[in-house]
Amino acid sequence: MMTKTARPLHEITLLSQAERLKGRPKLCSDCGICGGELRPTMPRSCVFVQNRHEEFERRLHGRNRADGDELLFGIHRAIHVARMRQPNPEAQWSGIVTSLGALLLERGIVQGVIATGTVPGTRWAPLPFLARTPAEVRASAGNKPCLSPSLEVLDEVRASGLTRIAFIGTGCQVHALRALEEELGLERLYIIGIPCTDNTTYPDLMRFLGVVSKSPQTVVHHEFMQDFRVHLRHEDGHLERVNYVDLDVERLGGERGVFPAACLSCFDYQNGLSDLTIGYLGAPLPPEERWQWMLLRTARGEELFELIRPYLELGTRSESGNRRVGVRAYVGMLRRPRKRPPAPVRKFVAWMQRAKGTKGIEFARGVIEMKLLRNLVYVRDAHARMERRVVPGYVYRALEYVADVYETEFGRPLRPEAGPSGAPARRSVQS
Ligand SMILES: Cc1cc2nc3c(=O)[nH]c(=O)nc-3n(C[C@H](O)[C@H](O)[C@H](O)COP(=O)(O)OP(=O)(O)OC[C@H]3O[C@@H](n4cnc5c(N)ncnc54)[C@H](O)[C@@H]3O)c2cc1C
Ligand code: SF4
Ligand code: SF4
Repeated sequence: MMTKTARPLHEITLLSQAERLKGRPKLCSDCGICGGELRPTMPRSCVFVQNRHEEFERRLHGRNRADGDELLFGIHRAIHVARMRQPNPEAQWSGIVTSLGALLLERGIVQGVIATGTVPGTRWAPLPFLARTPAEVRASAGNKPCLSPSLEVLDEVRASGLTRIAFIGTGCQVHALRALEEELGLERLYIIGIPCTDNTTYPDLMRFLGVVSKSPQTVVHHEFMQDFRVHLRHEDGHLERVNYVDLDVERLGGERGVFPAACLSCFDYQNGLSDLTIGYLGAPLPPEERWQWMLLRTARGEELFELIRPYLELGTRSESGNRRVGVRAYVGMLRRPRKRPPAPVRKFVAWMQRAKGTKGIEFARGVIEMKLLRNLVYVRDAHARMERRVVPGYVYRALEYVADVYETEFGRPLRPEAGPSGAPARRSVQS
């Protein structure tokens, strides 16, 4: 057996990117596999060694993504807009995720839930742990928006002999878990996925808050919202709103200065391999109403939905606007990044985005497409030799409608050359 990392988890999540990812492959989101006994599985479990997303889709669903929304949201049987009838005020939104984890324990369906709490003395540093009681899961409510080595907790699961567990986590973690699920000796595994993009380390999150907020120390909740603004709620309850166009990313050293290379090479915003994904991106506003959206993917995801359903109020899906013009224009902005415009121009752009911009599910489509594009450009620019291993085929299918603009701007086709099967050819796995 491999020895565990020298540092305990509550110290690891406080480290800077450089310290934390030292000795790891170029792309690593510190999902937790390499800090523990499962490290030898990294070549087959790590999404950044070989993205096996489409292989796992076929195992889970017997097929890959259909054209249309599945290319962006992942394979799903149903989408619901929902919120807890009695929201948990400590939760990130209405608390569906932690309520579900607690219910699974209350009903004896699972014996443990891998969740993410907070490092004592901090508000945001993640501390993954194995919850054994409903109260422990509920106490993990709220995002800790930093990389969490959650899969390291599998060592404790294996040592304790538990055979029925639930896992709450992000797409890169779920990929590794799907790779290993058949060899973990579990009778039952429920995977509750949260969407995730542009994650970072704790010191970089603090830098971000320092740049964005007038009072970073008093922020208790923040989220990138569907009204094109970051909402930051403070200890005294007041809400600070910062337009996306006003974010001074250059002060953080640009996106590459704040987000790890792994998160810029990630193509699974919606956690497509979970049993069900619970987020907010495609839900209607206003945020005070705490609507969330749930994507039911597998039979087990439907089972989870039925379990929580009596406690949910269901809402209505909505969408408006047309993302396509903006997404096509975004390709040019990736090729020729613009300087931050002067304040009056930013004010006008922010107003236009709110008044005329996309809403609801169409907003979610546009955001996901832009992240796919940005990350494809990043991989080609910074890790070109890894493209065939880390970019899944659905990315090229999803972005087909901007292929002409991409080719004009970047002077190369959107799709890599086809392999014998018509799919992008793959290189061998790196050790
Ligand atoms: C880093 C991060 C980025 C996100 N980005 C988006 C996004 O762009 N779009 C979107 O729709 N949703 C995003 N989410 C999910 C969303 O913000 C809510 O977490 C989700 O909707 C659940 O809300 P809730 O009220 O049901 O959760 P709660 O009941 O409050 O439960 C939150 C759960 O999240 C888990 N958790 C907290 N921090 C982490 C972490 N760092 N890693 C793994 N698990 C964690 C906890 O274990 C807890 O169980 C993100 C979440 C995280 C952690
Ligand atoms: S992402 Fe996970 S599996 Fe991949 S190198 Fe990092 S810790 Fe290891
Ligand atoms: S952005 Fe992707 S790689 Fe980074 S933590 Fe989230 S799911 Fe993992």
